[in-house]
Amino acid sequence: MLSMIAWAQVGSGYLPEMSRGDIFLKEEGGNVARKRRRLIRMSTTSIPTGMELLRNAGLNKGTAFTEEERELLGLRGLLPPHVHMMKEQVDRVVENYRRKDTDLGRYIHVLSLQDRNETLFYRVILENLEELMPIIYTPTVGEACQKYGHIFRRTRGCFIAEKHRGRMVDVLRNWPLVDVRVIVVTDGERILGLGDLGANGMGIPVGKLSLYTACAGIHPADCLPVVLDVGTNNEELLNDPLYIGTKNRRLRGDEYYEFVDEFITAATSVFPHALIQFEDFANPTAFPLIKKYEDKICTFNDDIQGTGSVVLSGLLGALRITGGKLTEQKLLFLGAGEAGMGCGKQIVAAMVSEGLSEKEAQERFWFFDVDGLIVKGRDNLSDVHQAFAHDHEHMTDFLEVVKTVKPTAIIGASAQASTFTKEVLETMAEMNERPIIFALSNPTHKAECTPTEAYTYTNGRAIYASGSPFKPVEFNGETFVPGQGNNAYIFPGVGLGIVACESSRVTGEMFYAAAKTLAAEASEDDLKLGRVYPALSRIREVSAKIATAVAEIAYEQELAALPRPKDLHEHIKSLMYMPEYEDYV
Ligand code: NAD
Repeated sequence: MLSMIAWAQVGSGYLPEMSRGDIFLKEEGGNVARKRRRLIRMSTTSIPTGMELLRNAGLNKGTAFTEEERELLGLRGLLPPHVHMMKEQVDRVVENYRRKDTDLGRYIHVLSLQDRNETLFYRVILENLEELMPIIYTPTVGEACQKYGHIFRRTRGCFIAEKHRGRMVDVLRNWPLVDVRVIVVTDGERILGLGDLGANGMGIPVGKLSLYTACAGIHPADCLPVVLDVGTNNEELLNDPLYIGTKNRRLRGDEYYEFVDEFITAATSVFPHALIQFEDFANPTAFPLIKKYEDKICTFNDDIQGTGSVVLSGLLGALRITGGKLTEQKLLFLGAGEAGMGCGKQIVAAMVSEGLSEKEAQERFWFFDVDGLIVKGRDNLSDVHQAFAHDHEHMTDFLEVVKTVKPTAIIGASAQASTFTKEVLETMAEMNERPIIFALSNPTHKAECTPTEAYTYTNGRAIYASGSPFKPVEFNGETFVPGQGNNAYIFPGVGLGIVACESSRVTGEMFYAAAKTLAAEASEDDLKLGRVYPALSRIREVSAKIATAVAEIAYEQELAALPRPKDLHEHIKSLMYMPEYEDYV
């Protein structure tokens, strides 16, 4: 082992005495501060050499270690003799990755790289984001979660199980990195539109955090994926000998909430600066949990608030095409779960800020769920639903509802494929010059309609967005590029803004600011192609702008713990991690 002090003195000039408390206060000289922070985080007393260094994914450079580094760091003979540039390493990974026959094979290939060489992994992702996002996130991550126990190779993140009750602080302290800034946590009960996948849901926090790093430059060492393994009610998994989770049925009721509460208390005490993102909890627990914690800690639920923000942004983008006003829209949702109701809450807030009363705004929404139209007097409506229930007869045929309500937009968040039928789409086109059709359900095969169906049955007039990615569509000699209403446009930038100023809370105003910023980033060319979001290739630039808008709100709302830098946007950009190798010598 080479001591940290000795290593720091070997040419790199980093000061070994720098303390962790200094890390975020050292704003000047962005890059140097970031590098120092990384070094300190990687090891407080020593860094590994030899084989141990090659096995440390955060530090490993593989064949890119220089001759001098090989000499000094005990690597001589442990690597093939030729020193490669990172570009060549990227080419090699991409060549191998493209040779795989299946998306799951590609997922395994790139995730294995993450375990070996994190810097190279992020460089590959960044340079091939549009190609790899559907692999590391929806739709492929869904299949990966379904088969997690079968493709499992190397552990990543913290699994907190029932047997850890009473000692979650100790479990979290086992995580090797001490300064976690973003935790994504799931209990695996509603993974995408695929239902209860128990501890297999770990693929989701892992994937989301990769997007935090790729899309917004949150340092990988700042991120912690967590699964709360509270059991599963998925019979197939309970009977699968290779299932990775506890083979119990799900905890319910008080026991469940006590479990989550112990986790929240432990996480906020071990990682006091961390933003906690709830992800893919089922509807009946997601709402109470976010209600319980949103005013107490720095947290949000991406399925509710992130979705609300990205859909609001899509609508604002669509209105740039139609020239309509948000307050004049009539919105019909198929699905009134986390995504649907999250959109309701976020878009109501936006309509209110554009002049409507809350009640007037709520009246512009119609929700249709598994039991039909949400109307007053219907059984089993939660408070969230009650606010949107109309004084209207109960209807159970979606097409009839479309004809009756005459919406300007239909938004699918039901996880039910092909529910925006030919007739529904044709009816929307009869009633609207430019019908807005958002089919958000994931993964791809759950989409309420495909873009081809949307453009065909509206004669090319639909303004379409989906949750999972679809390829461009040729229709009547025109090319349409469907926008992907992917939360990845929102949550990484929001997270970066929160982390950059150490906001103590995440507020609705921040998600509204994020939505407006995103909508403004779709270019005229994007809109001409029918794409209501900016190209994914611009995501880092867009995330930095979203982060700035979010941090501005934190300063306005007096939630930020750090002093406001003179140039907030430049400061935020300077914090963003770039996957580049450090010079160790
Ligand atoms: P949820 O389980 O909370 O809600 C599902 C809703 O669909 C419920 O209201 C249910 O009653 C309704 N539903 C079920 N079957 C129906 C049917 N046949 N007809 C009408 N309604 C029906 O789930 P959720 O978190 O709201 O997610 C729903 C879908 O949206 C998932 O596929 C998820 O992946 C997707 N989603 C997409 C995005 C995005 O693209 N940005 C974000 C979040 C969620």
